[in-house]
Amino acid sequence: MPADSLVHRVPSIAPRAAGPRPAKRPWTWKLGEIAGIEIFVHVSLVIVLGGLFVAQLTLGAGTAHALVSLALLASVFAVIVLHELGHALVARRFGARTRDITLWPIGGIARLERMPERPGQELAVALAGPAVNLAIAGVLAAIIAATGGALGPEALVRADAGFATKLVWINLSLAAFNLVPAFPMDGGRVLRAALALRFGRLRATAIAARVARWLAVGLGALGILWNPMLLVIAVFVYFGAGAESAMVQVEAALVGEPVKNAMIPGPRVVERGASLGDVAGIALATTQSVFPIVDDAGRLAGVLDRNELVRALATAGPRGPVDPVMRRDLPLAGADEPVVDVLHRLAGETIVIDGAGRPIGLISPDAIDRAAAIRTALYVAAARR
Ligand SMILES: [Zn+2]
Repeated sequence: MPADSLVHRVPSIAPRAAGPRPAKRPWTWKLGEIAGIEIFVHVSLVIVLGGLFVAQLTLGAGTAHALVSLALLASVFAVIVLHELGHALVARRFGARTRDITLWPIGGIARLERMPERPGQELAVALAGPAVNLAIAGVLAAIIAATGGALGPEALVRADAGFATKLVWINLSLAAFNLVPAFPMDGGRVLRAALALRFGRLRATAIAARVARWLAVGLGALGILWNPMLLVIAVFVYFGAGAESAMVQVEAALVGEPVKNAMIPGPRVVERGASLGDVAGIALATTQSVFPIVDDAGRLAGVLDRNELVRALATAGPRGPVDPVMRRDLPLAGADEPVVDVLHRLAGETIVIDGAGRPIGLISPDAIDRAAAIRTALYVAAARR
């Protein structure tokens, strides 16, 4: 995607900026970075692990035993990171970047900027995660067998079974569980990709989402009877399937459309020499939440969003100049860029620039939904005729 690097930011006005400002991640801690992908842990997972450790101690398990359980759980989450990295690195081969991986009590979530759309590529990305688990299980099993250790599945429930043997079975379970064909779990993506080869992506997603919802209901029932964690995963699957299906419908409606056909044209702009009061005037008179600031040639020089404007007004007053407070590291969309490409990276209202770097419109998830709904209605009307 050569156009991508051009339209993400305006290099000439961003001397220090390194692309779009990273979104704030409340309640997460960064664990580190592997292959350029940031790994985060959500605070709820730390609480759950800490709680389990304390519970074991208070229930009379020795410190050593509690530490071994904690180490086993930590290894499970390390394995989950490797699983997600499997997805991310295969996706990267197809040009899809991964923003980050976050560990939650229900598992890991890798945020891919987009899923490769060709069925073969999606299949490879989806299978890469479980393949990592199978590979780990295989290597561990080979080592255990070579050293004469026991490999039976009873290791999962026996307290005195070897650590490595438990990990073999945990990896096998993770591979099997993730391959349940409940979209957006890996197995569901495999199912969608397989269906897409025959029915096309839109119908394939609708079918996969329907299967996923039924499986989620089953998983939820199982969760109520057996393990509340399954209930959480069932809810995740149920709503995830709906969201993904809606996303694909929007994509299908807007495929081939450039951003300029979905944007709201003609944003009000101010010049660099303007005052904060001028920007406040626009904020009061329009529904804009971002305010483009332009240079003499009408090219985008910076931006203020509504919160930044309010903060700056409170300190500098209406006569305060715009130039020193405006932000230069702004996420942007190009007018001729396909809507489908920007869909996944829009966090809110975003400025659209033309080839000369002039702000000519605003695009937001809302605007895209609206354009998709209208385009779908037009298709339906055309099909009736
Ligand atoms: Zn996976």
